[in-house]
Amino acid sequence: MLNYRQVSLSEFKKVWLEQTPHILIMKPATDLCPKCQRYVHNISNAGNLSEEEKKTMLGEYTCHLDKAKQQREYYRERCLLSKELFQTHDLNQTERGEQVFYLVDEAEEVGKGANTVVSLLHHFFEHWGNGEKDAVLQMDNCARQNKNNTMIRYGMWRIMTGRHRSIEFSLMEAGHTKFSPDWHFGLWKMKWRHSTAETLDEVAESVRRSSRNGHNIPQLINDAEKLVSFYDWTSFFEAFFKKLPSISKFHHFRMSEESPGVVFVKAYRSSAEKPINILKKGQQLPNVDTLPSVITPKGLDAARQWYLYDEIRPFCRDTSDSLQSCPKPVCPKPCVKIDPEKRKCPKQFASPEM
Ligand SMILES: [Zn+2]
Repeated sequence: MLNYRQVSLSEFKKVWLEQTPHILIMKPATDLCPKCQRYVHNISNAGNLSEEEKKTMLGEYTCHLDKAKQQREYYRERCLLSKELFQTHDLNQTERGEQVFYLVDEAEEVGKGANTVVSLLHHFFEHWGNGEKDAVLQMDNCARQNKNNTMIRYGMWRIMTGRHRSIEFSLMEAGHTKFSPDWHFGLWKMKWRHSTAETLDEVAESVRRSSRNGHNIPQLINDAEKLVSFYDWTSFFEAFFKKLPSISKFHHFRMSEESPGVVFVKAYRSSAEKPINILKKGQQLPNVDTLPSVITPKGLDAARQWYLYDEIRPFCRDTSDSLQSCPKPVCPKPCVKIDPEKRKCPKQFASPEM
């Protein structure tokens, strides 16, 4: 032990402020856009660059911020329009910013890919929708082309099967995608951190109690009334739709029943719109009621089940037989084979011979 005097946290902060006021604790930043960070870093280190180079750098940064701004403004406008629409139609669901939280047990999940996202959206339209004919959707800007392609195809399928009249998908600029669902998740996370939740039902309860006005609504996958099924949308659409070329360049996708098969795309809000036909030639969509095949969750493997039972279950409040979480696996415990060769220290780290 070093023989230093300990100071209280407040004293430490006071000394810090006095001695090194230029060193700050990074704020829990909402803007962590890697592009912005790079621009700011480069500009602040631009001392040795020519005027021209500095100007170009500044121009690129301004251009990036402009794009982020126009996409955010578009999102805000759409939200306002949507709120007005809900007020004029006196709708009783999701009208005042209600948010449905899909809660999936680890053993029931089928991965986090396109099929899952589209299956949840499909469930939302079927069970939480208001029977609206025109939908305006904002997507989180996940850079995964595959996910977005399946999503756009799903939109087209809804239109071509008469489920919607028009659908619009929009994205904000990557890195600048904070939007109101994140705020609702934040509310729940605050509640959840101070809750004891050992079962999914208890997690659902923490969601329900996380907003004072009941705006956060839990939706369990195996809800008896609103059961969620996972479908293989990706394979289903493969037969009918082509890939949308350079999909990652676009931030707006619009489709309507007047132009079946055609997606109207725009790079940014102010860009020119162009039509792209994604329908494969000579292909007919199947019957309106035909759905893709259902994906059955694989469940947890033996190693994971035993890990949860041995390592996690002891932390639960009540470890009697009535506890549903981390139950005793019925499958035999897999024995872990350790290759003695691999356990050996690599030569460079081995202790020197005496
Ligand atoms: Zn940025």
